[in-house]
Amino acid sequence: MTPAEPPSPSQEPPVIPAGSGPSAHRPPVIPSEMDAWVVTHPGPISSRPLRPVRVPVPSPGPGEVLVRVEACAVCRTDLHLAEGDLRPRRPRTTPGHEVVGRVVSAAPDAVRLTPGTRVGVAWLRSTCGRCRYCLRGAENLCPGSTYTGWDADGGYAEYLTVPEDFAYPLPGDVPAEKLAPLLCAGIIGYRALLRSDLPPGGRLGIYGFGASAHLTAQLALAQGATVHVLTRSAKARELAVALGAASAGGAADAPPEPLDSAILFAPAGELVPVALAALERGGTLAVAGIHLSDIPPLTYQRHLFQERTLRSVTANTRADGRAYLELATLHPPRVTTVPYRLAEADRALADLAGDRVEGAAVLMPSHSAL
Ligand SMILES: [Zn+2]
Ligand SMILES: [Zn+2]
Repeated sequence: MTPAEPPSPSQEPPVIPAGSGPSAHRPPVIPSEMDAWVVTHPGPISSRPLRPVRVPVPSPGPGEVLVRVEACAVCRTDLHLAEGDLRPRRPRTTPGHEVVGRVVSAAPDAVRLTPGTRVGVAWLRSTCGRCRYCLRGAENLCPGSTYTGWDADGGYAEYLTVPEDFAYPLPGDVPAEKLAPLLCAGIIGYRALLRSDLPPGGRLGIYGFGASAHLTAQLALAQGATVHVLTRSAKARELAVALGAASAGGAADAPPEPLDSAILFAPAGELVPVALAALERGGTLAVAGIHLSDIPPLTYQRHLFQERTLRSVTANTRADGRAYLELATLHPPRVTTVPYRLAEADRALADLAGDRVEGAAVLMPSHSAL
């Protein structure tokens, strides 16, 4: 094992000494307790499944770093976890997997990310590295994978830990509130766009227009696509047109022209036949969500024949994450965000459930303003 590197004196402030290894005798800067939210009893958001708690600041395990959270965006998956659509994998887990923060300490064997480094923490938290999927570059399908905010505590907190191999180094000069939604909404949207097989200059239908969709639309537009947005929210339709969509209609409306590709972001299975029927011959529909309500019966001739393809999107690989974050750094998307205090996490989720968030809700712990 290699010992942890001591913090370099040339690092930009705020430099916080490592809390472990040879420098552990320095005065503690990391508090012993922190504010966090945990899912107590998964159920409808109106039953308040999330509770605020005071818990010990976690210690990084082998290969992990401790990150002080600057911002954590709120993802629809957090809502699925809070409401029990996704079964809890451990009790009282802190949700949140779109985290921007600074490394404040590292395990002795975590030597790549030194304290002070700004990182992003995303959904994929670990993979086995040995299975057939990991070995062929499809680690998003690894049966042994674990996820931030599901298998381990996430970013609805002041601090969290992450394996350093699964943290993404981020630029230091972009506001955390604008970077956080890129960590899931952006990366998953990027993968969904790849999975939709959009031809160059093609016509893309986007069903549902929340955080991920509004970033994906910009990516597709930048690549020369014609984008049609279909969503039930009038405000979201306005945002779509403002971002450059060629049209914006109701969720189940037919787009003004046939689609080469479509992405379903809304967790509504009843839209699968609607989107398939809107496809041109040979078109592809990618379902971006981790959870979807039941799909009604499909009619072969109307929905699948003529080589229409229906695909799911399952998480992302680290290569997807790196590729997307590089693109987003070179051509920063317009990120529409609504900030909430960490103490308002339950209200942010209720607003998301009620379609009252335009763009992405982002939790900002109070220390992030320091
Ligand atoms: Zn997510
Ligand atoms: Zn694996």
